Amino acid sequence: MNKPKPFTKEDVLKKYDVEEKDLVYRYLGIIEWICLHGVGHPIPETAEFARQKVLFEDGIDNKDAYMVHGCDGCCEKLKKS
Ligand SMILES: [Zn+2]
Ligand SMILES: [Zn+2]
Repeated sequence: MNKPKPFTKEDVLKKYDVEEKDLVYRYLGIIEWICLHGVGHPIPETAEFARQKVLFEDGIDNKDAYMVHGCDGCCEKLKKS
């Protein structure tokens, strides 16, 4: 298994129609997009990177734990854009 490659802020800005000022860094390389209601939504690829990083370094698979957030439905906007 190879060391996982981070999904960077530049990657996020390329793939999603979001503004840099609305992105927030979390632990393990997770980047959240803050919607206009102030809710942070993890970018799926960055949550997946966090999962792979912990799996690679500690041998622990936390599966979907890094995507857990109090979603107000705005993740949908992220997907469509
Ligand atoms: Zn929202
Ligand atoms: Zn969400």
